[in-house]
Amino acid sequence: MLLDVDGVLNPLRRVHRGYRRHRATPQGVTFKLWLDIAHGRLLRRLITETGAELVWASYWCENANEWIGPRIGLPHLPHVPIPDRPPDSGLSLGAWKARQVSVWAGHRPFVWFEDEPDVIDCLMSEQGIGEHLLVAVDPLVGLTEEHVDRARDWLTGLGGTGDGATGAG
Ligand SMILES: [Mg+2]
Repeated sequence: MLLDVDGVLNPLRRVHRGYRRHRATPQGVTFKLWLDIAHGRLLRRLITETGAELVWASYWCENANEWIGPRIGLPHLPHVPIPDRPPDSGLSLGAWKARQVSVWAGHRPFVWFEDEPDVIDCLMSEQGIGEHLLVAVDPLVGLTEEHVDRARDWLTGLGGTGDGATGAG
């Protein structure tokens, strides 16, 4: 289960009163974040219920374990390595990230909570990746219980009908 930070755990605005203001200063650069501790509970429950591994898929990379996870009650998580996008890559931020995710995931099935709209098309163009469900999150709203329910349903049905569901939406 791949988890983005900005636009997913940290929406663009305070959606409801459960969100609290935090500051993060990775590598000396200060960011203001909205974080909701309820996300930690939701995601921990999802891990327990599905047995799936939760992994950061964010440009925050390892910094998420210092500045994000502890504030919402998530344990230390592995992260998809996302190197800085080379200026001459010709790829958008979403496309560059989708490339790294597909290399990292290989044939393993994955669910991805992500707000970048162009990762859907980018994943489609990657060769040989496993079954996956992209759970598209609105960055104005952030992660909701409904997103988590969709992930749980999909993971629970994995390996069942074998129709190779690949989803966007
Ligand atoms: Mg994002």
